[in-house]
Amino acid sequence: MKVVKFGGSSLASGGQINKVFEIVTSDPERKIVVVSAPGKRYPEDTKVTDLLIECGQASLMHHDYQELAGKVLERYSGIAEELGLGCDIIKEICEDLMERLEGDKSKPDRFMDRIKASGEDNNAKLVAAYFQKQGVEAHYVDPGSAGLIVSAEPGNAQALPEAYEQLQALRSYPGISIFPGFFGYSKDGDVYTFSRSGSDITGSILANAVKADLYENFTDVDAVYSVNPFIVEKPKEIKELTYREMRELSYAGFSVLHDEALVPAFRAGIPVHVKNTNNPSAPGTRIVAERDNTNGPVIGIASDEGFCSIYVSKYLMNREIGFGRRLLAILEDFGLSYEHTPSGIDDISVILRESQLEDATEEQIKERIMTELHADEVKFEHSLALIMVVGEGMRRNVGTMSRASKALANAQVNIEMINQGSSEVSMMFGVKEVDEKRAVHALYDEFFAPVTV
Ligand code: ASP
Repeated sequence: MKVVKFGGSSLASGGQINKVFEIVTSDPERKIVVVSAPGKRYPEDTKVTDLLIECGQASLMHHDYQELAGKVLERYSGIAEELGLGCDIIKEICEDLMERLEGDKSKPDRFMDRIKASGEDNNAKLVAAYFQKQGVEAHYVDPGSAGLIVSAEPGNAQALPEAYEQLQALRSYPGISIFPGFFGYSKDGDVYTFSRSGSDITGSILANAVKADLYENFTDVDAVYSVNPFIVEKPKEIKELTYREMRELSYAGFSVLHDEALVPAFRAGIPVHVKNTNNPSAPGTRIVAERDNTNGPVIGIASDEGFCSIYVSKYLMNREIGFGRRLLAILEDFGLSYEHTPSGIDDISVILRESQLEDATEEQIKERIMTELHADEVKFEHSLALIMVVGEGMRRNVGTMSRASKALANAQVNIEMINQGSSEVSMMFGVKEVDEKRAVHALYDEFFAPVTV
């Protein structure tokens, strides 16, 4: 049995949904289909989820939201018309959206989650209606009745262990199950969404729960590329990589797959196959537990911006028991999560996502570190980019770090920070955001460019 997930661009129009139909029905193993909300039809288009967010916010602020709701409904009715579906399904979607928009707003976060979730929920109903019209036995599955129970964290829900037990029953559902991605229900019966692009997570949870043979993730690229194709033109495609490599790459900016999505599939040892809805015969990329390392030490290079570091130095820090713990406890008090902590004998840097910080918090953090830890210096550094050089092969290869740092030096990139994960699957370089692209080019040329003699 295969679980198949389709992203927003694969469902953006009637034509795209027809491709989805062809792909699903060409393989009888494809029994569980997870769908996103309709995405962009062309680069300047707006995703239905983004329209819904605007619409929900307008409603929360007591602004007129009818026009925005109209835009959402137009997307569904355009698709339904292209697919030759009758008015019933659009009437159902319209009633559902209005009911949500007029619903309880006393908890704005929860209200927004109900609005956002409608994108996938209604799309699943529409896709199921189309499959049925084509004479195929397909059913919309409500995540609530199926038992996708999640934590009550708005916009950041996590599946609870009992969800996996309950969702097992999907194995014996008749026909093809069309399951909306991106959200589940709390124990109290409220809707909570995963973080953005979270339909990938739904697919992985279902694959784990039903012990699928394969989790296929259909998107709009032929493969996972070794580097961001917006930075390096026509980069090398990756045929196979491990869960750990993919996790490291998607954490640092590879948007092909949500970085949390691999965990459930990984735990159940289910291979993930990234494929292109617009070119289903392309081999795609397989994500597996182990691969042979014949292609050199590095499999991919990812980069992401928007980081900052808190540099703390104190003479004899290495002798002070509990310094790191107390430093991190201060950050915990501010509700901040950190990404890396490269350190030396008398100093430590804590790297955070900049979006979490406000000017006021920054001052307060500095103050507390100075007074409570008696640090010699506390310095914030902003606008940093992190570049991850990833590959299982690094463990067995000597000199990868030296090649990478030499390539950066030759490109005149000043390295602000270096960190090698303990797993030796990745090396992290912190550079100024302005140097990011130059650094990525230099590293790509070093590890991937064909050698010219
Ligand atoms: N529609 C949601 C988003 O845009 C979830 C998804 O597409 O996976 O974030």
